[in-house]
Amino acid sequence: MVDIKLNLDDSPAAANPVTPNLFEGDYKIKFRCHKEIACFNACCSNIDIALTPHDVIRLKQHLGLSSGDFLREYTYPYEMEQGGIAGIKYQPVENGTACRFMTDEGCSVYEHRPTACRYYPVGLVSLRKQEEYTDQQSYALVEEAHCLGHQEDREITIDEYRKEQGVIEYDELDRGWRQLVLQKKSSGPAFGKPSKRSLQLFFMVCYDVDRFRVFVTNEELKNSFDLTETEWQDILATDSTLINFGFRFLKQVLFGEQSIPIKQSAVDEREQQKIAKANIEAQKQAQYDVSSEPSELE
Ligand code: SF4
Ligand code: SF4
Repeated sequence: MVDIKLNLDDSPAAANPVTPNLFEGDYKIKFRCHKEIACFNACCSNIDIALTPHDVIRLKQHLGLSSGDFLREYTYPYEMEQGGIAGIKYQPVENGTACRFMTDEGCSVYEHRPTACRYYPVGLVSLRKQEEYTDQQSYALVEEAHCLGHQEDREITIDEYRKEQGVIEYDELDRGWRQLVLQKKSSGPAFGKPSKRSLQLFFMVCYDVDRFRVFVTNEELKNSFDLTETEWQDILATDSTLINFGFRFLKQVLFGEQSIPIKQSAVDEREQQKIAKANIEAQKQAQYDVSSEPSELE
């Protein structure tokens, strides 16, 4: 267990079920969930589930939908922090709180269920120290009264549980996204409130992968990056490879981290555009100065 305490004092929840400690992967939990348990489906009857970029990819592919249709049909957007980062959550059943994929037999998308469902009752907590570039993973434990799995007679380490639930691959695929979210959170007020355009860009890249594919294959954008045709083929090969490129693209656009080479011609063109814009502004200012000077007839 690491000695970082979660600050739950100002939590709006009266009785917060999250254990106020962070654990490492070798920490043993006592837990088992199975079909015969008395609380079966209780957790899926009252959901508040945030989705990751790869959750969207797995679910939309399984359901045979475009990312846009999946987002419209099954999710709603929310702000991960005020005015900061766009996130999405599962839309529950109409006029209810249950998950739309819940059936009497259990989860109808079990093989493709999202990261949060796989992790439960463990929660992943990504941390990044101010002076360090890489993120660290720790875990929190959620102990809700309705969940009887904590009373089952089985001990398992968090690492073993993550393996059992098939969540390791998901975490690896979404790592770039978590780093982006952490980077934005730790950049604080100095970074300022992101523009509407950068919020839209973040949303498209992270969740609307089919739209991002169209955006990336736009010749103008493609021509501004110094990448070979083989590199483009690798980027566009699958939704996962594309979205990983997207995370790098966002780091470059939002935080100025240059990891995708840009063609000199695109840099020159951008410089020319900046100069032209500055000239227009200067001309506008000059016209304003002239028109606001008092006329001799006055
Ligand atoms: S996706 Fe499956 S496991 Fe997750 S809340 Fe819905 S029914 Fe439950
Ligand atoms: S044991 Fe917990 S996770 Fe399993 S069905 Fe019951 S409430 Fe859900």
